Amino acid sequence: MILVWFFIIFGFYNPKCMVCRLCKNNHLKLHYIQGDKDQFRYYLCPLCGLVNLDLENMKITESQQKYADRFKPPQDYEKERGAKAAFRFVSKYVPNKGRYMDIGCGSGSVLYFFKKDGWQVEGLELSPVFAEHVKKHLDIDVKVANFLEYETNDRF
Ligand SMILES: [Zn+2]
Repeated sequence: MILVWFFIIFGFYNPKCMVCRLCKNNHLKLHYIQGDKDQFRYYLCPLCGLVNLDLENMKITESQQKYADRFKPPQDYEKERGAKAAFRFVSKYVPNKGRYMDIGCGSGSVLYFFKKDGWQVEGLELSPVFAEHVKKHLDIDVKVANFLEYETNDRF
């Protein structure tokens, strides 16, 4: 019974009063938890449906550096099946190689496959750690910005 109440309270109550990044609603509910130390907590906004990652209390820079350091291209990028599948999917429907921007490019594994195929590529990433990693290892330009605020006249 206590456990049931725990889940009810934990599921519907948002103790940190996190604000939805898209619609600014502050009544979010815990959606799911990930990570070996339960460090990634995702909150669902019932108004707009956006799932927001709670960035507070995460050693975000440290964990991103650790994650970024795991990739030593090109051999590690070649193993990224998800990234390769994303590239294949897009190139199947967009046969002409053009400009590709990866919004939230992370460690740059999707960008890696597009660049290798001859596309003009660019990344947009919130994390300066990942942006630096992609620039250093893949020689790809990555802007550090929030996509909700980023403006450009470039076409991709
Ligand atoms: Zn929202």
